Amino acid sequence: MVEIVPVTPVNTEWVHQHKVSVAVLRADLIDPQISGNKYFKLLPNIRLARAQQHHTLLSFGGPWSNHLHALAAAGQRYGLRTIGVVRGEQGGPLTACLQDAADFGMQLHFISRIDYGHKTDPLWQARLVDQFGPHYLIPEGGANRAGIVGCQQLLPKDHDYTHVVLACGTGATMAGVVSSSRVPVTGIQVLKGAGYLQREVAGLLQQHGLQATCDWQVLDDWHGGGYGRFSPQLTAFMQRFETETGIPLDPVYSGKMLQAVVALIAHSHFPAGARLLVIHGGGLQGRRSLG
Ligand SMILES: *Cc1c(COP(=O)(O)O)cnc(C)c1O
Repeated sequence: MVEIVPVTPVNTEWVHQHKVSVAVLRADLIDPQISGNKYFKLLPNIRLARAQQHHTLLSFGGPWSNHLHALAAAGQRYGLRTIGVVRGEQGGPLTACLQDAADFGMQLHFISRIDYGHKTDPLWQARLVDQFGPHYLIPEGGANRAGIVGCQQLLPKDHDYTHVVLACGTGATMAGVVSSSRVPVTGIQVLKGAGYLQREVAGLLQQHGLQATCDWQVLDDWHGGGYGRFSPQLTAFMQRFETETGIPLDPVYSGKMLQAVVALIAHSHFPAGARLLVIHGGGLQGRRSLG
């Protein structure tokens, strides 16, 4: 595993004005293909799969899944067969994301949204064994115990930040970070649904016998219209942020999260003197979904 994730300080007008400091933990830089937090969730799973003598990894995701993209790349790199079960019937040509996954050697299997809804049902999963043969199953987003525990390695060992901020999809990264951080953690939910991720993260911690080691909260009104929805304001924000900082963002997670961070700072959500560490979860391949 990577030992140290690089950090980029952000020195913009909006930071200095509000007497806080902001640094971005660049998980997007740790590997060109197995991107961001997916690296921390997938590598421990690959280690487990191998220990259990599995040669095939199977997982789930949508047509722009950073998780399937990273899984396909990891399978190619470590010589494991990969199967991606994709949400929704294949309407037209593959998305650039799934085309990459196929090029990395992933076998894609499209299922209806209704079937996809069964993806955590053990009986339904058992049928996947009949269909695809023995495999190591990784839940959507890599949100199992190994993935969560892997994310406990994300934060630097020694640091003097006062707050951590990250984007939440399944909440697995959040669960790993809040069970390893000693400073408060704020999660920015990128899906619609009041209280949804607060419950998911609490559920993941409980299910896996993990304890929060810090205060944490999920803010659920920064989804910008819902998962994978992009407004012109978001794209404009991302462009401005990238020009100011040189840090590229993805529209689904890091773009929305940093938009939230800038607004929260402007509204004095964090106390004066706060030193924020913002986790960039990678996923830059998803920029191509902006067209
Ligand atoms: C997958 C992903 C997330 C969300 O991670 P979860 O552990 O599912 O909450 C955040 N940011 C990026 C860039 C991602 O690809």
